Amino acid sequence: MNIISHRLLTFILITCSLWLVIPSVSLADAEHDHSHQHGAHVHGVGVLNWIMDGEIVQISLQSPAINMLGFEHAPSSEDELQHLRLMLDNLNDMAKIVQFTGGECELLSSNITNPFKKTLQLDNHEEGSSNQVIHAEITAEYQFQCQQPSQLKTINIKLFDTFSGFERIDSQWIVDGKQGGATLNHHSHLLKVH
Ligand SMILES: [Zn+2]
Repeated sequence: MNIISHRLLTFILITCSLWLVIPSVSLADAEHDHSHQHGAHVHGVGVLNWIMDGEIVQISLQSPAINMLGFEHAPSSEDELQHLRLMLDNLNDMAKIVQFTGGECELLSSNITNPFKKTLQLDNHEEGSSNQVIHAEITAEYQFQCQQPSQLKTINIKLFDTFSGFERIDSQWIVDGKQGGATLNHHSHLLKVH
């Protein structure tokens, strides 16, 4: 295994271990509340992993839907549907997600998961009792290519400005094989690269 594939594997393992909770969270039912079990689904808190390997920067965000949407149930009104559309638009608008300084980085691909299956259609079927605790997670993955990777100075995470529900984002990174982590908040959301 060469160094690059080893780094990618490490990143994938970290990402997967953090994301293993997603299916169980989205299926959370009256039996238990995941928010207090694993610390993975905490309202106000997001997880952001990023890796830089040569010219490629990958950023992945995992967050309770409430941080970006304001609720975690399937939209049941036009107003909630509008919120969902706006959130998806924002997640696809790079200027509202990240800002690179230096590096000449361009978005290669993005992948946003919408937990509300029949997207953008009203679901009038209420399931379960009104006392049921429902949680939903949103994940967003972005891949960038930087023409001048050694010139990339900082990545400004703009999620706090774009979405009102974030209090904290736990960030882990691997840059050219070195690992680290940081806690981001409204006052400190600049990732230093070089
Ligand atoms: Zn929740």
